Amino acid sequence: MDAAVERTMNTEQIIGLENEHVVQSYKRPPFVLVRGEGMTLYDADGKGYADWVAGIAVNALGYGDPGLIAVIQRAAAGLIHTSNLYYTAPQAELAALLCEKSFADRVFFANSGTEANEGAIKLARKVAFDRGETERTGIVSFSHAFHGRTMGSLALTPKEAYQAPFRPLMPNAVLAEFNDLDSAAVHITEKTAAVFIEPVQGEGGIHAASDDFLRGLRQLCDERGALLVFDEIQCGMGRTGTLWAHEQAGVTPDIMTLAKPLAGGLPIGAILTTEAVASHIHAGDHGTTFGGGPLVTSVARYVVERISQPEFLADVQETGAYLRERLQEINSPLIADVRGRGLMIGLELTVDVAPAIQMGYDHGLLMVNAGPRVIRFVPPLVAHKADVDSLVNKLTAILAEMGAAQ
Ligand SMILES: *Cc1c(COP(=O)(O)O)cnc(C)c1O
Repeated sequence: MDAAVERTMNTEQIIGLENEHVVQSYKRPPFVLVRGEGMTLYDADGKGYADWVAGIAVNALGYGDPGLIAVIQRAAAGLIHTSNLYYTAPQAELAALLCEKSFADRVFFANSGTEANEGAIKLARKVAFDRGETERTGIVSFSHAFHGRTMGSLALTPKEAYQAPFRPLMPNAVLAEFNDLDSAAVHITEKTAAVFIEPVQGEGGIHAASDDFLRGLRQLCDERGALLVFDEIQCGMGRTGTLWAHEQAGVTPDIMTLAKPLAGGLPIGAILTTEAVASHIHAGDHGTTFGGGPLVTSVARYVVERISQPEFLADVQETGAYLRERLQEINSPLIADVRGRGLMIGLELTVDVAPAIQMGYDHGLLMVNAGPRVIRFVPPLVAHKADVDSLVNKLTAILAEMGAAQ
């Protein structure tokens, strides 16, 4: 079906078509998004929504960014895809830029977050294999972690509803308690190939790992010969006000995975690592058809350059601090906690957040949960204080209405 046909359908017809032909793995609100501008999305009926979701922490530059559009157009007129059989400049240039901006010496490109984590699992397993440590196959992750939905990363995502139908999962996945070094010390052993952690947990409810916890993990991994993997798919790329969330703890990993905002909304994943790890990967050990294609890496290079500007990061810090402060000022008995860093803020309620998110749609507000009782604010990183003020006004009304209904 071409775009012209699609535009002749109204909201009801589009939803009807979706319900009939798309695998029903998502529950969606009853409107159809058609365009965006800045941090506002518009539905097919012209109604605007302030977007505090950003495609789940993806659309870091918002909608309609002229620089982003220009670089996509330029890149689209060049090569879109060549496969990894051949050299192209944009992949090499993006890898060099990511290395310049991080602890890493080398990068492997994938197409999504879960794929980056699958690759990281394989890198860690290959290092142990090369060392002849045949028993070192364990991967440790933490309570409330989210590392993805494919079979390896799903084993590291300890949510019963996600895992139960798909057992057996990848073997030797080991669960430790988040922010609990004693638990980590029990579970990180001579059989651990890698330890996966989100420096700030996203899906699990916006919980930051303490600096001491990250430092302790670094030490345990070094003592016991395990690799430390930071999953910064959600919390990286400026989201917490520094380019990488782990900078704030002064700890560097052996591997870092990136995805969500890296190419401004186009699908991409990346595994950043050290020479010590990468030297174990040789031709044929891992691969992907699409990963690191010239179009998506051209765009990602632009996004990394924009986000890593000190002024850009300072704005994220300032708007994030203001968001946190304004949320804390809301006077509602339903608020249990406000937490997070930068523009990755969780608002925990004493009740289920689903009705608040639902009411948000009526108020022209897009919000997403992180677990049953947390609303997660992960807007475009270009959000301003005026956007925060408008959010807080709407949210205050929503919480008052919910409180009155209690
Ligand atoms: C979203 C997310 C993933 C999975 O990324 P996909 O692109 O959806 O596969 C993994 N880890 C974290 C921390 C995430 O937020």
